[in-house]
Amino acid sequence: MASLLIPGYEQVKPRELSLAFIRELVGDCKQCELCQTRTHIVFGEGNPKARVMIIGEAPGKNEDEQGLPFVGRAGKNLSRVLELAGLKRDEIYIANVLKCRPPDNRNPKAAEMLACTPYLREQIRSIWPDVVVTLGNPATHFILKTEIGITKLRGSFHQAGHFVVMPTLHPAAALRNPAWQRLLEDDMRMLGRYLANHAPQDITALEQAQQQDASGAFDDLSQAIPVMEETHDISFSE
Ligand code: URA
Ligand code: SF4
Repeated sequence: MASLLIPGYEQVKPRELSLAFIRELVGDCKQCELCQTRTHIVFGEGNPKARVMIIGEAPGKNEDEQGLPFVGRAGKNLSRVLELAGLKRDEIYIANVLKCRPPDNRNPKAAEMLACTPYLREQIRSIWPDVVVTLGNPATHFILKTEIGITKLRGSFHQAGHFVVMPTLHPAAALRNPAWQRLLEDDMRMLGRYLANHAPQDITALEQAQQQDASGAFDDLSQAIPVMEETHDISFSE
C-alpha cells in the first residue's frame, strides 16, 4: 500500500497525527477521477479513540450529498447490528476505502483505491483501533490482501500486520439477503465477546516497553497485541 509523503513525518508513529491534520492533507483532493463527479468528500466520522474502526467501500448517494459515512439505509442497519456488539455509533469510527462516490455506486477501480487508500492508512494509524471491521469484499480484500470471498473469511478474526481484523458482510448486502443478515448479526455478537475479553491496547505502555527493552524483543509491535485463538494470520504487506 502506498504511503503519504508528509514533510517532517517520514515515520509516523501510532496515534501521532490527528484526524483533523489528516483531513487537512486530503483538502480538496483531486488525486483520482472521482473528484469530477463527487458532491462532497466523505472523510469519515466518529470517535478518534475508538476501539473499533469500521471500514466500508465508498460513499453512496446519501453519503455524497451529506458528506458523512453510512447515513442511508445501510447505515441504519449498521447502527442496529452494532448494538449486538454493545456499541453505539458515537463510540466507533467509520471510514470507507474511497472517500468519493463512484458514479452509480459502481465498484472501486484499482487506480482509485491506489490513489485514496494512503489517507485511510493514516486514519487507521491515527486511531490505532483494537479491531478493524471490514464490510464486504472490497474493504476486506484491501485490508487482508487476499481474494478469498467474504462468506469464507467472515466468522473469525484475522491478523493483518499490527491489527486484528474482523471481516463481515456489508450491511447493504445483508438487507437484500436474510441469511447474510443473520451472519452479520452473529459476527457482531462475536465482536462484542472479543471486546469484553480483551483489555484496550495501551500504546503509551507499549512504546515505553519498546524503549526500555534493549534486547529488541518488542521490535514488532504486533507481538504485543492480543489475538483470539481462532485468528487466522494474513500478513499485511506494507
Ligand atoms: N456503503 C458504504 O460502503 N459506505 C458508506 O459510507 C455508505 C454505504
Ligand atoms: Fe481524492 Fe480519494 Fe476522492 Fe479520489 S476518491 S479524489 S483520491 S479523496
